Amino acid sequence: MAIFKCNSCGNTIDVVSPPDVCPACHQKCEFVDVTCYIPDCGGPGSKNINEQVYQTSYKTDKK
Ligand SMILES: [Zn+2]
Repeated sequence: MAIFKCNSCGNTIDVVSPPDVCPACHQKCEFVDVTCYIPDCGGPGSKNINEQVYQTSYKTDKK
């Protein structure tokens, strides 16, 4: 399992592969793998989110 984040609404889901449509905002959006793979955030299997990836992947300049 991996944690994917919808780049449209920021919702995160814990799935094997991201769906075509986000279950939260019902948009076809880009899903970013924000799973923590490094010990800094708990490592794989911790089901933690890599905050750094999460922050940098979020499109805050959306207009
Ligand atoms: Zn969404």
